[in-house]
Amino acid sequence: KSFAPTERILQSQKDFVATASHELKTPLTSISGFAEIISSGMYQSEEDLKVFGRRILDESHRMMSLIDTIMHLSKVEETETTIKWKPVEVAGLVRYAAELIKPQADKKNIVVELDMEPVHVYGNAALLSELAMNLLDNAVKYTPEGGQIRVSVESWEMYVKIDIADTGIGISEQHQGTIFKRFYREDAVHDVDGIGIGLYLAREIVTLQGGYIWVVSEVGKGSTFSVFLLRK
Ligand code: ADP
Repeated sequence: KSFAPTERILQSQKDFVATASHELKTPLTSISGFAEIISSGMYQSEEDLKVFGRRILDESHRMMSLIDTIMHLSKVEETETTIKWKPVEVAGLVRYAAELIKPQADKKNIVVELDMEPVHVYGNAALLSELAMNLLDNAVKYTPEGGQIRVSVESWEMYVKIDIADTGIGISEQHQGTIFKRFYREDAVHDVDGIGIGLYLAREIVTLQGGYIWVVSEVGKGSTFSVFLLRK
């Protein structure tokens, strides 16, 4: 198999630089706004100072996590030409990812159920772990207290199907395609941490491995993300 960089990736890198610069400017604008108030002495009280300081900190953290993600993302895009492809046992890999998110799920009393059979795909373990983590992390983030997540790995004739189903807030039908775009987030999730890159990465990774990803979802009921990967 050959995986030369495609036109699609080159174009997407250009769009990416534009969007990333835009996204970095927003926190930077508020950081400099608050710094200006502080340095010009235009605040009313000690309490104001603390509030502005905290906002500067929050916005700096947001910028740092954005930069981390951007660097990470460019690595994923670079590796297209250098990825090592091998048979990977996906059930074990998904099980491990589920163990990693267990503490977050426990905090929200979310039950995580696994139903998997061992099966090999032809792919890259690091990228597949990233994929599983992103989907599981979302399932926990967008599912309220006391919910449920079901993860299954099933082998089909040519494909392996991974399902990550949650009983969370769901995604409206008109946005089920948009959520895979870089930096897109639903309006309803502004109080949940995130920058809108996990699903974009997930789709990039699945596409690199010659697979498919899609979502079936109903607002207020939950979402099921399904990934199809080519069997070894
Ligand atoms: P992030 O979680 O950082 O916002 P993602 O790219 O992973 O970024 O997801 C994009 C958007 O898709 C989220 O902001 C959210 O609106 C929606 N979304 C993703 N996963 C789920 C899910 N399991 N349930 C409901 N909404 C989801």
